[in-house]
Amino acid sequence: MADRKKIVYVDMDNVLVDFQSGIDAMQDVITSEYDGRIDEVPHIFAHMKPLPGAVEAYRALCEKYDCYILSTSPWSNPTAASDKFAWVKKYLGDVAHKRLILSHHKNLNRGDYLIDDRPNKCGADEFEGEVIAFGSEQFCEKYDCYILSTSPWSNPTAASDKFDWVKKYLGDAAHKRLILSHHKNLNRGDYLIDDRPNKCGADKFEGEVIAFGSEQFPNWDSVLSYLLK
Ligand SMILES: [Mg+2]
Repeated sequence: MADRKKIVYVDMDNVLVDFQSGIDAMQDVITSEYDGRIDEVPHIFAHMKPLPGAVEAYRALCEKYDCYILSTSPWSNPTAASDKFAWVKKYLGDVAHKRLILSHHKNLNRGDYLIDDRPNKCGADEFEGEVIAFGSEQFCEKYDCYILSTSPWSNPTAASDKFDWVKKYLGDAAHKRLILSHHKNLNRGDYLIDDRPNKCGADKFEGEVIAFGSEQFPNWDSVLSYLLK
């Protein structure tokens, strides 16, 4: 056992899988019907794409670690489990064959690392190994993070939709930290990550503007390696 490879579990939704891409593939009538329980839409998991870099990252991990995919599957969606199996086979078939584990009790799996975007859910908080909290919360451990966005005046639901989005996807990390403003330069701060560095006051921001999508910062990987090193 001394030279065994360390066991790594990798979560699916919002770690390997771009959950939003499944929602985007649904018709509006479906997303309205399943509002608040979107993960129950039949076959929604079959439409999801990998997050950028996720497949390559999983493959790279497999070279050093004994890797498994550890995900929950909503009981109330009868196609979720089979769609998740099909997803793994399609995108990771050669390296993840029969390595998908579906469980709502991640703490019952033995292992060294668990990479998960919800480190407090489904037993992740009681996992015996080290939990690597994937996603924006990495920033929040090191930085005092806020979400600074504009909201189109002419769209009456934009502001509340944005609040709902933040609550849904970043709730723990971003609770009450959304700031809606067309004058970003009036906010004090050290860094502003923005894809439009010349709009809405970003060009007059007092700190450093990280131009998301630019040659230097084409994606989140590049931003993470810049800010978390
Ligand atoms: Mg997840």
